[in-house]
Amino acid sequence: MDNQKTKEIWFLTGSQHLYGDETLQKVAENSKQVSEALDRSGKIPAKVVWKPVLTGPDAIAEICVAASATSACVGVITWMHTFSPAKMWIAGLTRLTKPLAHLHTQFNRELPWGEIDMDFMNLNQSAHGDREYGFIGARLRLNRKIVVGYWQDAEVVDDLAGWARAALALAESRSLKIARIGGMNMREVAVTGGDRVEAQIQLGWSVNGYGVGDVAARINAVTDAEINRLVGEYEDTYVLAASARKGGEKHQSIRDAARQEIGIRGFLEEGGFGAFTTTFEDLHGLTQLPGLACQRLMADGYGFGAEGDWKTAALVRLAKVMTAGRPGGASFMEDYTYHLVQGREQVLGAHMLEVCPSVADGKPSLEVHPLGIGGKADPARLVFDSRPGPAVNTTLVDMGGRMRMIVAEIDVVKPDHDMPNLPTARALWQLRPDFKRGCEGWIEAGGAHHAAFCQAVTTDEWEDFAAMAGLEMVRLDADLDIRSLRNELRWNDAAFRLGR
Ligand code: MN
Repeated sequence: MDNQKTKEIWFLTGSQHLYGDETLQKVAENSKQVSEALDRSGKIPAKVVWKPVLTGPDAIAEICVAASATSACVGVITWMHTFSPAKMWIAGLTRLTKPLAHLHTQFNRELPWGEIDMDFMNLNQSAHGDREYGFIGARLRLNRKIVVGYWQDAEVVDDLAGWARAALALAESRSLKIARIGGMNMREVAVTGGDRVEAQIQLGWSVNGYGVGDVAARINAVTDAEINRLVGEYEDTYVLAASARKGGEKHQSIRDAARQEIGIRGFLEEGGFGAFTTTFEDLHGLTQLPGLACQRLMADGYGFGAEGDWKTAALVRLAKVMTAGRPGGASFMEDYTYHLVQGREQVLGAHMLEVCPSVADGKPSLEVHPLGIGGKADPARLVFDSRPGPAVNTTLVDMGGRMRMIVAEIDVVKPDHDMPNLPTARALWQLRPDFKRGCEGWIEAGGAHHAAFCQAVTTDEWEDFAAMAGLEMVRLDADLDIRSLRNELRWNDAAFRLGR
């Protein structure tokens, strides 16, 4: 997950010919300084690349076409240091296929009160240059991120950095291949399904099914030497229960799980997949439901969804891309059961097996226990509690004709009690603004029982991603008002139908 600095964000500065060479020279120097400061901030997870000042429609069109055609370029930041008549931007912006940010800033922070003259005024025109430029974005109905403030302020850099993370996720989305091992959703389940052709048109996801037998053949071909090496890694990385260690009665399950991990990993690498699903309803040729393998592959950056849930698998992968280099992880998650003591209501999130150890608080324990579903041997799994702190749960549902993203802000808490008999990884959280409204909002919007649980992606970053992808986005946070939400959902229905 450290390949992000190979990507670029292009920094485009708008101006016009009217000002003459001396002023344009100054514009170039200043904008280069802004661009380099952003690059050096260490916060933007891509190279910020300064481009020569744009003074006419041909050059603008040319750079926008180049940005669209350059695979390393994941987005462009635009800024009007001076006035840049916005009809000049129409040809370029209508051809731009990469995410667009509009930085509304000014080179100087303070007015030079004693020295200010018309030369200064002519050089520092962002206040109205960015308004002229902003109009054409609105007129073209462009999805763009508008970031306002002084370019050296941490808040401004953070906003651009968050947008850049979403832009990296969009680039990933447009080339994401998702393997459905077993090729099916859990029978009769509604929310994990959806229009895969529409998902590919809108989000770029290529979602295809593969026979579980093909994967089983690969798993069976794994050698003992490979298994020995990986089991050694397990012993170094996790706490192993006595029964799971060499010589223990459950050790064979650990070896079988290692075999599955190596086989599935090879299958995913060979196919160039970024995400995958499994299903307990199709395990032909597998000795146990893959649990440990899914957990460890997620920890290495793969997206995962259980029960054929390809939408959540994709979201987990996008969250992995967005969180790269940040503390905190991302995982497949399910709202499992509740603690309903009044005023202290909590959600216990987990899954049968497949929660990513990137969200673990401390060293996970590797254990083998029976599983009352799937009718196979006892599967290995990592067991742990999740790190406390703020997080978001993100879901994507197919509303018929469009996808809706729902992002809920939550606070993960440390459990007051041990759960010694619960043999699965879990997270305990509280909803914002409170349990009643948090649940009602999620259910009202049609949120799934699965989610991408993210400790290091913010709601704003998901919102930026949704805007870039043209998705409907519903946020459930501390400001949630149920009546407004109902109206928002009703109006969104109309807006997305009219917009089609
Ligand atoms: Mn499930």
